[in-house]
Amino acid sequence: MYSLFGRGLAHKIYKHACLAQRLWTDKAAAAKPPAAPDKLHSQIVDVRCEGMVVKILPARDNNYMYLITDLPTGCTAAIDLSDNKLLFETLKKENLTLSYAFITHHHEDHAGGTEELAAQYPDVKICAGDERIKCVTHCVKNDEKLKLGEMTFNCMHTPCHTVGHYCFFVECGAGGPPALFTGDTLFQGGCGRFFEGTPDQMYSALCEKLSSLPEDTKVFCGHEYTLQNMAYARHVEPMNDRIMKRIEWAKLRRATKSPTVPSTIGEEKSWNPFMRVHEPNVQKHAGEKDPIKTMGSLRKEKDNFRA
Ligand SMILES: [Zn+2]
Repeated sequence: MYSLFGRGLAHKIYKHACLAQRLWTDKAAAAKPPAAPDKLHSQIVDVRCEGMVVKILPARDNNYMYLITDLPTGCTAAIDLSDNKLLFETLKKENLTLSYAFITHHHEDHAGGTEELAAQYPDVKICAGDERIKCVTHCVKNDEKLKLGEMTFNCMHTPCHTVGHYCFFVECGAGGPPALFTGDTLFQGGCGRFFEGTPDQMYSALCEKLSSLPEDTKVFCGHEYTLQNMAYARHVEPMNDRIMKRIEWAKLRRATKSPTVPSTIGEEKSWNPFMRVHEPNVQKHAGEKDPIKTMGSLRKEKDNFRA
């Protein structure tokens, strides 16, 4: 399922990317004025790294969906289908050939576009791990690896927000920092509600699976919730300087409608209370001595928290 991207053009883009971008950078799509800023909650932003580029697409009130392109081959995948109109417009405008769509979980604001995509782009493979998602052509399994161009998609089953929730960990062929698409499992500074799961499942997802990924992994989550989550993180750990600094940074970003994603796994481990349930300060706040009980207690408090 490689795209029909011309090899010459792809090579040129790849060479340029390798020369110009040794590290991840993020820039508002070519510093153009933000697309329909009156309608979108955030600017459309490209995050580049060696070998691949992630396009952040804002949708609905606070959703993010993504396009990831393997620069050597042009192979492109979408992550979540929250706004097909914007997706189809972007594919056309950027001259991208979509080969895959990965859906993190069955909620309508992430999976609602699968039927229309299947009708309009019948060659696109739709990959997901929940039978409630319509038009899936490939049912993913935990630890399954899929090769897209020179990228490798690692499918990580992270049940709790929903039983069929998957995160997708993407390594690029050029050896740069990996990307992680977390849907509604891990947010910047927070996590999704436990609609279909338990504290020990979220503990396993956040503190065992995702915590063990490389520290420089870029985290692309499903919603722009950073300021709300960080207000709760500050409530849990008022003396954590990393949280205060991130709040100030995020306020500046939001003032210009810039996304606050991505963060990194290393950063999340330094400020996200749900990834810090081993920390004495966090356990003390929860009134617990056990990390899983702390996880349950924090989620309950956060469900009713108003900044
Ligand atoms: Zn959800």
